[in-house]
Amino acid sequence: MISAELLRRLRNDLPMPVTIAALGHQGPPAKMSEGYYRFLCPHCNEMRATVNPRNNLAHCFCCKKNLNNIDLLLQLDYDFVSAVALLERLLTEYQAQQRKAK
Ligand SMILES: [Zn+2]
Repeated sequence: MISAELLRRLRNDLPMPVTIAALGHQGPPAKMSEGYYRFLCPHCNEMRATVNPRNNLAHCFCCKKNLNNIDLLLQLDYDFVSAVALLERLLTEYQAQQRKAK
């Protein structure tokens, strides 16, 4: 059972750069540029998808599409249930690390 609250947390509480780093070579190429985290847009294949840290959404300045963590995995051919399961695991690991760092 996937709740709306879980989906909200997966979109908002797991930074997209953490997700992309965890995907490794499975994920899109990414880089820091001018203080922004950019990655290869799965829609148009330009290095113009840029994460807005305020809302944890990536916006592509080439094709203008927006992507969240869930959209990104669906673009990478995950099915919805697998995408949610992976993000839930990453979020749990991320929050455990955050607690240790404090
Ligand atoms: Zn694009």
